[in-house]
Amino acid sequence: MSVHLDQRQRAMLAEMGVRVWSPEEEPQVSEVPSASSVTSAPTALTQTPVRVAPTVNAPVTRAATPVLLQRPEGIDQMDWPTLQHTVSQCQACSLCGTRHNTVFGVGAHAEHAQAPQVDWLIVGEAPGENEDLQGEPFVGQAGQLLDNILSAMGLSRQGEGQGAGVYITNVLKCRPPGNRNPKPDEVAQCLPYLERQVTLLQPKIILAMGRFAVQALLRDSLPDVETIPLGKLRGQVHSFQGVPVVVTYHPAYVLRNLPEKAKVWADVCLAMATLRVA
Ligand code: URA
Repeated sequence: MSVHLDQRQRAMLAEMGVRVWSPEEEPQVSEVPSASSVTSAPTALTQTPVRVAPTVNAPVTRAATPVLLQRPEGIDQMDWPTLQHTVSQCQACSLCGTRHNTVFGVGAHAEHAQAPQVDWLIVGEAPGENEDLQGEPFVGQAGQLLDNILSAMGLSRQGEGQGAGVYITNVLKCRPPGNRNPKPDEVAQCLPYLERQVTLLQPKIILAMGRFAVQALLRDSLPDVETIPLGKLRGQVHSFQGVPVVVTYHPAYVLRNLPEKAKVWADVCLAMATLRVA
């Protein structure tokens, strides 16, 4: 059905915040990567962009869904500050429409635009509410537990401590609304940022905390990782981009299952032992 509106009617609707698309207007086109193609091509956007034209008579309100852009090209060539800036501007998935802040990571300081060189990289799942508001990973209750673990290891989130310190980040750089699980297309869109972080940080060991971190990091080396319970992946040293990876439970899970704390400590001990011989 089409509706013909004169200029005065259009002006009235515009005043009320309602936009009506008509064929004489150029439709706004969003370049939205299709979920099926991005999941299978995490590092390159080779898919055909999907043309999204507004439906006739569908009012576009102020809280409209964001216009998604393709993930920027050349992430694998970016230096640390460029990567950080690119993440802060990212509109490659719908999480950009609900986030307050992107959460790039925290840890040892970068010198002269270089990435910090760290021994440890800790990878979690995604920012929660507090992290989204503060722009820093693991600042809620799970973060307090992580801080205690770091302290027992002789480390701190500010990057001080033994050896070359630590950097903490997540698979997703934006909060999924209501802390829901990350979706496969969100992980696929965001993973190149983590891959570049690993290349630039050159950690000697990665501690993958929780199912989503483990799946994102191990899916190349273990294609059926999604079918393997996390408990079965513990106690071995895996690899991501040539960096040893130790798997452990997510601190939020441990807070709900306190007896599992001992297992996390056992995993941290395995990681420390791996680092000593690295
Ligand atoms: N959980 C995560 O995985 N990451 C955070 O930053 C906070 C909670």
